[in-house]
Amino acid sequence: MPRPLVATVSLSAMAHNLALARRCAPGRFVWAVVKANAYGHGLTNALRGFAQADGLALIEFDRAAELRGAGWQRPILMLEGAFDEADTRQAAEQRLALTVHEPGQLHWLRGLPASAAASVDVFLKFNSGMNRLGFAAQPFRAAYETLRSLPAVRSVTLMTHFADADIAGGADAALQRFETATQGIDAPRSLANSAAVLSLAAAHGDGVRPGIMLYGATPFADRSAASLELRAAMRLESRLLAAQTLAVGDAVGYGSIFRTERPMRIGVVACGYADGYPRHAPTGTPILVDGVRTRTVGRVAMDMMMVDLDPVPGAAAGSAVELWGERLPIDEVANAAGTIGYELMCALAPRVALRVEH
Ligand SMILES: *Cc1c(COP(=O)(O)O)cnc(C)c1O
Repeated sequence: MPRPLVATVSLSAMAHNLALARRCAPGRFVWAVVKANAYGHGLTNALRGFAQADGLALIEFDRAAELRGAGWQRPILMLEGAFDEADTRQAAEQRLALTVHEPGQLHWLRGLPASAAASVDVFLKFNSGMNRLGFAAQPFRAAYETLRSLPAVRSVTLMTHFADADIAGGADAALQRFETATQGIDAPRSLANSAAVLSLAAAHGDGVRPGIMLYGATPFADRSAASLELRAAMRLESRLLAAQTLAVGDAVGYGSIFRTERPMRIGVVACGYADGYPRHAPTGTPILVDGVRTRTVGRVAMDMMMVDLDPVPGAAAGSAVELWGERLPIDEVANAAGTIGYELMCALAPRVALRVEH
């Protein structure tokens, strides 16, 4: 008997969210971002859920090779570019588009053999204010000219990534900097993450790069996934392993950080931080038992966590638990735990069984 903890990935939800991204940015090339194992949803599942994407974008070269091996023929964009010379050769051989954000990456492209002529599409990254990756305005133009002269480079797209697109008006200054830096350059442009896809049409450029929205979570702190018409792509479910009846003043779990103020029943859920559930989720984090909303109590342990059964008097060992999913947005759980939906889905541990549904 496997552990009752299962993550179910919905292919129809993924396809729905992708179609929504396309409607937001009509006519634009849509890169579905599938880094970090498709934000925890599984790369194979992403291939099916995002079958209608124009391209896939990720970070990991071994996973890009898997995508080619699985038969994905359309473009693949490496969002951090090559980490070394071997990656650059792999890109040329497997037709992977490469972000270039650093002079060393230009050097590796220059070193490609003559047989690699016109094999690499480059996304030249401009630092629009995040100050993480990318060239400043002057070196950006110089890098563009260099790339145009390299035989291995087939095309150059001008790219940036926003630090604050999730805040109203937050990306305006960055967009302005990008427009100034790229003025007069006749090349396609790619700027938008999910937040910009959903809220900043001026930044849709030629190609958009939605990630989180495709998985049905919101990129915004103040707008729910439901209000954006996104559908949750993952449901994390488990069962109660046991129930306990407690007297006033009894403690629950490690550190005894929760003590009852009245007699109560608690349930023990088969899910813990070794499954990716956040250990820092405090007492009160929402959770469903038999479809009824209740709260976690005490400290999340490695393999188990406890829940308040007062709102669900009929619950007992075997009762169904939903940690997040269609009925309990991952964003609400993340918010209670002081993090974001992105982190929860990416942290899903390999030991959690991934199931797929249509
Ligand atoms: C991860 C990533 C995205 C997608 O961001 P979301 O906020 O998940 O939509 C887009 N572009 C780049 C460069 C990224 O690294």
